[in-house]
Amino acid sequence: MYQPTVEIDLTALRHNLAQVQQRAGQAKVVAMVKADGYGHGLIATAEALASADALGVARCHEAKMLLDAGINTPVILMEGCFTDDEWAWAIANQVQFVIHNPEQLEHFLHLNLITPVTVWLKLDNGMHRLGFAPDEFISAHHQLTAHDNCRDIVNMMHFAAADDLDDPLNGIQIGSFEQITEQLTGAKSVANSATILTQPSRTYDWVRPGIILYGSSPVIGSTSAEYNLKPVMTFKANIIAIKEVQAGESVGYGRDWYAKKATTVAIVGVGYGDGYPRHAKSGTPVLINGKMASLVGRVSMDMIAIELPENSNSQVGDVVTLWGQGLPAEVVAEAASTISYTLFCGITNRVAKQYID
Ligand SMILES: *Cc1c(COP(=O)(O)O)cnc(C)c1O
Repeated sequence: MYQPTVEIDLTALRHNLAQVQQRAGQAKVVAMVKADGYGHGLIATAEALASADALGVARCHEAKMLLDAGINTPVILMEGCFTDDEWAWAIANQVQFVIHNPEQLEHFLHLNLITPVTVWLKLDNGMHRLGFAPDEFISAHHQLTAHDNCRDIVNMMHFAAADDLDDPLNGIQIGSFEQITEQLTGAKSVANSATILTQPSRTYDWVRPGIILYGSSPVIGSTSAEYNLKPVMTFKANIIAIKEVQAGESVGYGRDWYAKKATTVAIVGVGYGDGYPRHAKSGTPVLINGKMASLVGRVSMDMIAIELPENSNSQVGDVVTLWGQGLPAEVVAEAASTISYTLFCGITNRVAKQYID
């Protein structure tokens, strides 16, 4: 069948986890599998990442899917609990949670727990998304420590610009985190993927890698190979037509691209309906029979066009790699003015998933 396919290389996934574990030293690893394992499949990635110390998800619904599938690695809810049902379910199933707002703190302090639990308490010192401002954080920490429901606390924060080494906010955030937690008990966790790669002294007690597990570098201007990471997802589709266009003729909707000379164009059966980014520009690379070729014209729902190199012997049916092995997703993302995260998460359920182990 000619159907776009993502091959998911579970050996590469485990290799990347081992790289993270090596970089993390003594620190424990929360492997982030939210958003369907960054588009790689929640359960399959969770199973392959069994040697992580914990799995991180955003929402209760995702944690439920993990437990229903029999995953027994500890799970942490990064956005915490909201409804009574969620609180009850998380506590009953020993799922850990972040407390990041006053409503959650109040709710937690009014529970009547038989066994105290670990709380991940989030500081907001620059991201301005989730978390307590410094003064509120210290007060929340004191309230929790004094309460029977709380066994211990993991003090956490999230960097707003760890992918950009030159951003002064990185130093400001770590400075305030250090200063605030100096006087407080509990473990510490700050490092996402970019931090693990670029600030090796900031691994503390728990690291929280996401994108690097999937083999893509978040650090601006770098690719994963520089960090010995292997791409996990390779996105492939077939050529479904080949045609000659003459100088001056356009290809695709809106006539965005014109042939400057007689050109052989291959139509590939993949489009934004599969998760190929619609904003990929003419010139975005694809890999065909081991050679780079360029996207031409606009991305359609079910098709893209690529310019074949001269003397290409490509045929209908040949397989084209959109990103993955041999073509880093970071490079494609850059050409589409986006990030590899959105490419991975954007794969739709029309695309077949093939796991390789
Ligand atoms: C998603 C997430 C991460 C991982 O981010 P990456 O950039 O993919 O490494 C880390 N921490 C928290 C709280 C997250 O939600």
